[in-house]
Amino acid sequence: MSWFKRTVKGIQTPTEMKREAPDGLWYQCPNCKKAMHTREHKNNAYTCIHCNYHEKIGSEAYFKILFDDGIYTELDANMHSGDPLNFVDTKPYKDRLRSTEKKSGLKDAARTAYGKMADLDIVITCMDFGFIGGSMGSVVGEKIARGIEYALKNKVPFLMISRSGGARMMEAGFSLMQMAKTSARLAQLAEAGIPYISLLTDPTTGGVTASYAMLGDFNISEPQALIGFAGPRVIKETIGKELPKGFQTAEFILEHGFLDFIVDRKDLKDKLASLLRMLA
Ligand SMILES: [Zn+2]
Repeated sequence: MSWFKRTVKGIQTPTEMKREAPDGLWYQCPNCKKAMHTREHKNNAYTCIHCNYHEKIGSEAYFKILFDDGIYTELDANMHSGDPLNFVDTKPYKDRLRSTEKKSGLKDAARTAYGKMADLDIVITCMDFGFIGGSMGSVVGEKIARGIEYALKNKVPFLMISRSGGARMMEAGFSLMQMAKTSARLAQLAEAGIPYISLLTDPTTGGVTASYAMLGDFNISEPQALIGFAGPRVIKETIGKELPKGFQTAEFILEHGFLDFIVDRKDLKDKLASLLRMLA
């Protein structure tokens, strides 16, 4: 059956010539590998309809999910980082900022907005992992601090959504100062008796875990989120022992008393609203 054999060798089709479904029509779950319609995935709060895997999403998606009719007002939308240390690693920090801004359409790794959530006033600061690994630098700290200030002034509950690799190394000590600054502001919020809820999402690590992410009146998390301070390899080498199964997952941390509850993203808005009504 010679006509089943490919006689011409080395036929190649350039990528742009390959036929595909229109871009973005289908979403393939990275966990169970099953496909679903992008719209269906979005309507499901970006969770997999087969295995409930929570896709990593950014501030825009969270704001759309949580604020009524997706309507919100952003605070300090144009704040962006300086380069106080003239830092250079594989490239100058200034260039890295510029190219990341361009690529992500974001100004830094966090955005703050206020609006109504299930008819309740709320201020939300949400981190964006797409901006230098959601690292916490001066802008992230300042945006959180100003979000809290707005919450204080207007007596509105504050929600922090964390997704971060930790402090931003290109701002070194300036990043670490944000831990103290945000913690001090949160203490003022606590003194004023205004609720602070911290939602930890996958992953929340480093200086973020060591400061505002764990200081909530309620510390809650999405399922299966990685939460920790140092990475598992570093801990293993330090203590010289095998780590228990599921170490640093939200479920493990809940079991050990560091979280109040785990919430499915599809129920997030309802749960937050009933929690805030209870605290009001
Ligand atoms: Zn899945």
